[in-house]
Amino acid sequence: MRVHHLNCGTMRPPLTPGLVAHVLLVETDSAGLVLVDTGFGLADGTDPAGRLGPARHLIRPILAERETALRQVEALGFAAEDVRHIVLTHCDSDHIGGLSDFPQARVHLTTAEARAALQPKTRLEKTRYGDAQLAHGPHLVEHSPLAGEAWRGFSAARELTEISSGIVLIGLPGHTRGHAAVAVDAGEHWVLHAGDAFYDARQLSRAGRTPLSLQLSERSFAHDWQLVRRNHQRLAELWAAAEPDLLLVNAHDPALLRRAQGL
Ligand SMILES: [Zn+2]
Repeated sequence: MRVHHLNCGTMRPPLTPGLVAHVLLVETDSAGLVLVDTGFGLADGTDPAGRLGPARHLIRPILAERETALRQVEALGFAAEDVRHIVLTHCDSDHIGGLSDFPQARVHLTTAEARAALQPKTRLEKTRYGDAQLAHGPHLVEHSPLAGEAWRGFSAARELTEISSGIVLIGLPGHTRGHAAVAVDAGEHWVLHAGDAFYDARQLSRAGRTPLSLQLSERSFAHDWQLVRRNHQRLAELWAAAEPDLLLVNAHDPALLRRAQGL
């Protein structure tokens, strides 16, 4: 499958180098287009206060229309209706803002994340999930990777064969209750999109220091910090192994996005 690496949401939080919202656009053989996450959407640009609330002052997104997944899909010669499926790493607003631009798409996520977003329990869950991004009533398709198979050492995986073979949802809770990574078979290599399981590649490579502001932000948004740290360890092992047929990316590191776009 052909995979495009898109930035669907530049952010400029205080004291932090610019962040991106790394979205995968996958051209499948038989299931049309598939998005992995959506970044921000058109409605975020027209109503940032209503859609993002006070959090917009923390993440400071630029909300440029040309960065939305919809406009980038169109620029590649496709239409919104060609996007038949969206697979989510989790439901924070910087990942699902574009859902309402593709109302016909089936939206795949873990059952645990759907429960967290629809029935938030903790104080953090009650503040991080907004109602606006889901108000259009997307067709949610819940999956339980715990009931699935392993994938490259991750114990809770589930191939989403109802979309296409070669798209795997991997349970990686910690950042949120039902956070997941998504692996996509891009032919000569697999792309593993780790979502917000880490914020900055230097957390895995140890080649330089992650800005303190990013570390603090990651910790303050963690549903379960111990699980986040365990995920870091597992992903650092994967980074160190440097398997030639695996491209590891995440949602917000601009260097990882540039590397992926340069391949
Ligand atoms: Zn995020």
